[in-house]
Amino acid sequence: MKIICIGRNYAEHAKEMKSELPTEPVFFMKPDTAVLKESDFYFPDFTKELHHEIELVLKICKAGKHIEEQFAHKYYDEIGLGIDFTARDIQAICKQKGLPWEKAKSFDNSAPLGAFIKKEQLKLDDINFELKINNQPKQIGNSKDLIFSFDKVISYVSKFVTLKVGDLIYTGTPEGVGPVSIGDNLEGFINNVSMLKLTVK
Ligand code: MG
Repeated sequence: MKIICIGRNYAEHAKEMKSELPTEPVFFMKPDTAVLKESDFYFPDFTKELHHEIELVLKICKAGKHIEEQFAHKYYDEIGLGIDFTARDIQAICKQKGLPWEKAKSFDNSAPLGAFIKKEQLKLDDINFELKINNQPKQIGNSKDLIFSFDKVISYVSKFVTLKVGDLIYTGTPEGVGPVSIGDNLEGFINNVSMLKLTVK
């Protein structure tokens, strides 16, 4: 199982990162050791600036390669909520030196994952999602603001990487990313329903 993450998929987030808007999807991967389910998160000792990125997550239900956009909806059946934890200080150094981002993005437990909903229960182009920290809203997004739709992302990624059953696609974060600290309680919501909870320890 692998995790594919889409970068810069919301214009306002690209803006806050001072990144250009992509003309095609930007993706990177996290290994299966990044998944963290129903467990607290331990602040890693190699970063001083750990950022939250709340993201809608697609669960792949069918293997495929070179998937056409018009058929992409058949390849995922559930949508959940995850956090793409990012060591922003390390990422900044990697970007500056033109190096890969793995140290900043793909470390153990960097992909907390909450509950999933069958996609039939959602209006796919109008999914509200939110991250609260200590009960304060930090990030609010909606799938209608995606630069590249779920189907476009699946089609694009599958040109390069075969998708397998159980793979996860983190579809990008809206604006409002920021640091977390030890003791913070994070809670994620889809359409105001709590889907993910963790404490930073
Ligand atoms: Mg992200």
